[in-house]
Parts: sequence; structure tokens; C-alpha cells
Amino acid sequence: MDLGYQDKVAVVTGGSSGIGLATAEQLLKENAKVVICGRNLERLQHAKDLLSRKVPNRKIYTQICDVLNQEAVYKLANFVASELGQCDLLVNNAGRGFVATFEKTTYQDWRTELELKFFSQIYPIEAFRHMLLQSNQGAIVAVNSLLAFQPEPHMVCTSAARAGVQNLLKSLSVELAPKIRVNSILVGLIESGQWERRFESREDKNQSRENWFSELAEKRKIPMGRLGLPQEAANAIVFLGSNAARYITGTFIEVSGGLSRFI
Ligand code: NDP
Repeated sequence: MDLGYQDKVAVVTGGSSGIGLATAEQLLKENAKVVICGRNLERLQHAKDLLSRKVPNRKIYTQICDVLNQEAVYKLANFVASELGQCDLLVNNAGRGFVATFEKTTYQDWRTELELKFFSQIYPIEAFRHMLLQSNQGAIVAVNSLLAFQPEPHMVCTSAARAGVQNLLKSLSVELAPKIRVNSILVGLIESGQWERRFESREDKNQSRENWFSELAEKRKIPMGRLGLPQEAANAIVFLGSNAARYITGTFIEVSGGLSRFI
């Protein structure tokens, strides 16, 4: 299957770790030129070094950018326009989850979480829309969560925000068609940054990594018996963003090891 990334430019927000980093790697392997952004310069440099070692002789660019800072997002788009002259794929991946029940969620938590989930889509889409419209293969892929359709009471605010994002993406897939396709992936539990951080802060420091992750998979009743790997989420993103998916828009691929209970 030809994914058609040769000479294409992809921008991955939150590309210095986890799913974003794995997506950048796959896109480089498919011969795309890749721009990654994140808030921390050291992490970005580390990611660039890693990608340059794993996929040598490819074009990888890094830019500091907080996707919640409108000015910074426009700066990122200007950088891409002046350095590369085009953007064919935007992967809106930057973000994190917020764990709290309704009782424990403050008004400020609601505002912060809703802002993160919505504006991490809105600012980059607005800033890159013009370039994506000029591409003959314009695509947006958002990294969203199964929580959008299967809310969890212990993540009430994130779940509600994620449902709203799916709704927004559906509208955009109509408004931006036929020039830009808009899709998402819905992830379950992926073994990346946030789970690594939770593992690091585990109560029983004697518990091994393997044991901690397999207990988590068992507790969450993941049919595939394990958490997903960042590369497995990246595979779906790279497919949805590619020319091989050129008739697919306004939909999603679930990458959850069978965790969803809806049909
Ligand atoms: P990681 O923590 O491994 O990576 C997150 C990346 O996003 C980092 O590169 C981080 O870099 C960057 N980032 C975070 N906030 C911002 C911001 N405001 N502006 C720019 N960059 C930012 O997490 P994952 O790979 O797991 O997460 C990727 C996406 O998948 C997130 O949106 C997350 O919510 C979603 N997700 C993940 C799940 C999982 O099980 N892993 C489950 C459900 C959803 P830096 O901190 O330097 O800015």
C-alpha cells in the first residue's frame, strides 16, 4: 500500500514523547518531512537526537510551542511556511488527561481542561488551515480518547471534553471537505508518558514495571491483555493521514485493544 508521504510535510504537536514521537518516527520512515513541537526544549532536542539516530538522513525539525498559546502556534505555522513552504498533514496530539470525579473537579479545573481539549485543536487547525487547503492531500488527524464515547466517572471532565472534540471534528470534516480530511484515533490505554509517570509514582516501589503494567491491563479488563504501544497508535494515525485513506473523513479508528463496550 502506497501511503504517499514522499515530499509531504507533516506537523505533529506534542511530538517529543509517546504517541507523537512514535508518529514522527513512522512518518519519517515513510519519507515525509516532519516538524514536531512541544513546550520543553530539552525533551525536543532529545527526541530529535533519537529520531536522527533511528531514521538517519531525513528532515526532522523541532520548534518550541505550547499549543494553548495562540501566538506561538501562529509562529510555528509561519516557521513551517517559510522553511518548508507547505503542510499536508497536521497531527493534533499534544495534551494529557485529568483524573477527578465531578465532586473533586473545581470550576477552574473545568475551564482548564475544556480549554486544553478544545484549543489544542482550534489554534493549530486555524493556523495551518491555509496551508492544508493548498495541499493536494490535506489531512488532520486528532488524537482523542475512547472516553469520548465511553465516559469514566473518575475522569468526568476529560470525558466530557473529549466528546465535545469528536463533535467539533465531525463539523470540521464537513466544512473543510473536500480539500482537507478530518479524522481521529480513539485510544484506550497506551504505554506512554502519562502511564510511565504513574508507574514512577507507584506506591510499592518494589513492584516491577512488567508486573505493574500487566496488573493495570487486568484491572481495566483489556481484552488484548496489555496496554497498547505508542507505535500501535501511530500506525493508525499514519494511515488516516495518508493518501491511502483519501476517501475517509469524519470518522475515527479505535486503538484500545478491544476496550470499548459500544457497538
Ligand atoms: P506523553 O506525555 O508521552 O506525550 C505528550 C506530548 O505532548 C509531549 O511531547 C509533551 O511535551 C506534549 N505536550 C503536552 N502539552 C502540550 C502543550 N500544551 N503544547 C505542546 N505540547 C504539549 O503522552 P501520550 O503520548 O500518552 O499522549 C498523547 C495524546 O494522547 C495526549 O493528547 C493524551 O491526552 C492522549 N491520550 C493518551 C492516552 C494514553 O493512555 N497514553 C489515553 C487517552 C488519550 P511537553 O511536555 O514538553 O510539552
